[in-house]
Amino acid sequence: MKRDFTVRKYGELLDAFTEAGYNFQRVEDFIQKPNAQVVVLRHDVDLRNWAAIRLAKLEASLGIKSTYYFRIGPQSYNPKIIKQIVDLGHEIGYHYEDLATCNGDIEEAIHSFEKNLSKIRYFYPVKTVCMHGSSGSPYDNRDLWNYYKLEDFSLICEPYISLDYNKVLYLSDTGRRWNGFKMSLRDNVKSSYNYNFYKTKDIIKNIETLPKQILINAHPEQWTNNLPEWLFVKIFSIAHTFYKIHYRNPKIKG
Ligand SMILES: [Zn+2]
Repeated sequence: MKRDFTVRKYGELLDAFTEAGYNFQRVEDFIQKPNAQVVVLRHDVDLRNWAAIRLAKLEASLGIKSTYYFRIGPQSYNPKIIKQIVDLGHEIGYHYEDLATCNGDIEEAIHSFEKNLSKIRYFYPVKTVCMHGSSGSPYDNRDLWNYYKLEDFSLICEPYISLDYNKVLYLSDTGRRWNGFKMSLRDNVKSSYNYNFYKTKDIIKNIETLPKQILINAHPEQWTNNLPEWLFVKIFSIAHTFYKIHYRNPKIKG
């Protein structure tokens, strides 16, 4: 059996897009000057931050630049790793979760946001930020933007808010599958597109049918060639999906 969600498979996916005529842009570049036929690669570094280096190097070797969003906790934020990814030419952004960590206190959350953003700006002139789903929390981190403006922090984009997903197709590998949005509490977008891919090869097989502008959210920790690590992630994904469907979603929605 050929495993999906390996770094090799990720490379095949990128190659397939290149062959189909797509080029790649970072989120900040896409917002400022979108290409006509383009894939925007977004990476939420949720945990096991070292996994981000693997994808960052692979992309750089293919001449591709993408966007890495870092959380502030130690499982994500790491100066050495961030610096290395900056040096490879990628964009860095802040994967914020301040409203959840501040238990819904808007004022406390915006101060925390500002402080954490400046910590990441030490390494890169951050122009875009992207929420962490914080699926265990009743608070939606995006609600900050009901009270404040991105521009107030010299930001130009929050991918969940600033993009029109009726135009840009959104594909996310959440749950180590490409149709995990059905189980996701917050990692989903309003869209009229109705693609339903499970495996990476399903995307590659149907690449000619896809819209011209696509945003892919690939979590680096999902993708590994190493078999024990791959199995660890697989078992975690199965258990986590079960937990989401049978326990968490009913609880949070209730
Ligand atoms: Zn996240």
